[in-house]
Parts: sequence; C-alpha cells; structure tokens
Amino acid sequence: MGIEAYVGGGWLLTKAEQLINWGRSRSPWPLPYGTACCGIEMMCALAASYDMARFGAERPSFSPRQADVLIEAGTITKKMVPVLRTIYDQMAEPKWVFAMGACACSGGVFRTYSTHQGIDDVIPVDVYIPGCPPRPEGLLYALLKLMDKIKGEHPLRKKVVDALGASHGS
Ligand code: SF4
Repeated sequence: MGIEAYVGGGWLLTKAEQLINWGRSRSPWPLPYGTACCGIEMMCALAASYDMARFGAERPSFSPRQADVLIEAGTITKKMVPVLRTIYDQMAEPKWVFAMGACACSGGVFRTYSTHQGIDDVIPVDVYIPGCPPRPEGLLYALLKLMDKIKGEHPLRKKVVDALGASHGS
C-alpha cells in the first residue's frame, strides 16, 4: 500500500523512536575489519553476487566515524587489542559489532600465548557468527538479525548496555 492511500484518508501514527530505528535498520553501513581468513568471506559477501544493497549495507565505511557496524572478521592478537578498542571508540553512537568466525568469537583454533580469546571482553558484540570460516550467507543472516534488533531498540538502552559491557570487560 503506497503512502498516497493515506493522504486525505486517515492517520498514520508512529513514534519518532520507531521511525528513526526503522531508518537505521535499513542502512547499516559496515566497517570491514578483516584480520585473517574470515576477511576473505566478508569480502565475498560484499561482492555483487550477494547483493548487500538489499539491506542498505552495500557501502563499506573505511572511516570508523562514518560506520554503523564493525565487522571483526578474523584473529585478534594481543597486540591488536588496543587498536580494536580505539577503532570502536571512534565510531559514533549508535553502533553495533559482529564477531565473524570462531577466532573473533572465542579465539578459535589459536589457543596460543599471542592470540586474544574472543573480542567480547574488549568491545560489546551484538551478533556472533559461528564457523571457521562462516559462509557469506552467515554474514547476511547476521545482518537480518541486527536489523530486527535495531528496530526494537531504544537508543539510550543500547548506550547504557554497551557502557556496562565495556566496564565489565575492562
Ligand atoms: S575462524 Fe577459521 S577461517 Fe576465520 S580467521 Fe579463524 S582460522 Fe581463519
């Protein structure tokens, strides 16, 4: 039903918060942060055949300040932990994070002295994408889950939960 059906024919009611969240959910600009083999699958998902434009996510932002969703795809070494945190801190609110692949979720097969065992004690993770590596479809599914999450989200609640998560992890 087009908007013209409502013109002169009644009322269209919503809350500003819902309208804003709907807009945000349809334009989650990703910040690709590929650090290992999962990054290849992420690049594949960004290619034309997977058509991320369907979800408004076809425009990668290589500046954290213009990105909504940090996609951390791959292994994080201990030396990279402060870098990851800095990049996250540079993103404007509201912001979301995908942990793509077993290494980002839990360290994966690299249970070594130099590998950080999952990123969620460094930055708050919104969607975990399992697999070694996950297929591009896994990333698309995560996008759909995120869109649902954003639509039901209160902006202030997200900020408070992130702050609690960050202080818990530090
Ligand atoms: S989860 Fe597997 S594919 Fe992904 S970065 Fe780790 S080892 Fe590579």
